Amino acid sequence: MPQHILVTGGAGYIGSHVVRTLLHEGYTVSVLDNLINGHRKSVASAAGFYQIDLGDVKALRSFFDTHSFDAVMHFAAFIEAGISMRKPAEFFENNCVNGFHLLNEMLRHGIKTFVFSSTAAVYGDPVDDRITEDHRLKPVNHYGRTKLMFEQLLNMYEQSYGLSSVALRYFNASGADDSGGIGEDHAPETHLIPLVLQTAVGLREYINIFGTNYDTPDGTCIRDYIHVNDLASAHVLALKKVLSDQTSDVFNLGNGKGFSVKEVIEAARTVTGKKIPVKIAARREGDPAVLVADSTKAKRVLGWKPNYRSIQSIVESAWKWHESNPHGFQD
Ligand code: UDP
Repeated sequence: MPQHILVTGGAGYIGSHVVRTLLHEGYTVSVLDNLINGHRKSVASAAGFYQIDLGDVKALRSFFDTHSFDAVMHFAAFIEAGISMRKPAEFFENNCVNGFHLLNEMLRHGIKTFVFSSTAAVYGDPVDDRITEDHRLKPVNHYGRTKLMFEQLLNMYEQSYGLSSVALRYFNASGADDSGGIGEDHAPETHLIPLVLQTAVGLREYINIFGTNYDTPDGTCIRDYIHVNDLASAHVLALKKVLSDQTSDVFNLGNGKGFSVKEVIEAARTVTGKKIPVKIAARREGDPAVLVADSTKAKRVLGWKPNYRSIQSIVESAWKWHESNPHGFQD
């Protein structure tokens, strides 16, 4: 019998890509999503779908009473760092309290294997050029704080209840599945690559460059863009590992290569053949100059190999999605 995996937030950007990879690998998959930010259309038809809010403890309880799972992968969360600074209560409730309900329901049913969607935002301003998992944890926004708090809860639940978990700290998830059928669609969209491509498509007049006076070669921020399908393959490897050895761990997931905002825009100009006008704007609050992963541990321990290494190949795959779905899942 194939193992049955519950994916919360499986109608979201990263979750929907992971669901496809899990199905491809032969797992049975159920998706739980409240569709506040997720898209029903992004869920692969072979997966079971349940529209439940993790804050609805009664509904969650009856769901767990009537289904059984081998493991849970938890993506459901709010993700915008800027918004988190204005809405810490909502972020705490969704990213911590709702996850807490989920863990408790799992334990009530003896499910002790968990994969957690964490973030490089737990590190805050980097003190090293390339960030390893033992870099200091000092988030600079409430989004990162809620993710770190939840990682700490996982440690407590491991010590006291024997819950095994893997926390995956992503850098800048980007790109889209080669099928062209799913991709990034956030409302409001705040991420660089989709905004640049929306400008290429003509939906926006220009792209803002948030700050050109950073201490970087071209003055713009450097980030580590990692393809969403490379993230997805790492999730499946992490899942396999924690299912088999029941050992908790934490891994960075990034490309290990940084690209500046200007380099991303240049790559998009090459890929799309469009002009893509820019405007220089003020720095965005809470943006470190450089964030680049050292993902050696994921490669060594999980045997993970990212396939998309160049910014051009990542932007190309995102362009496929944005060009044919300029309005995202509404098209
Ligand atoms: N950025 C930008 N203009 C935009 C959106 C983002 O210059 O319209 C910059 C942002 O300041 C950061 C980088 O692009 O340096 C990546 O931002 P994004 O929001 O995609 O991801 P983050 O690094 O915040 O997770």
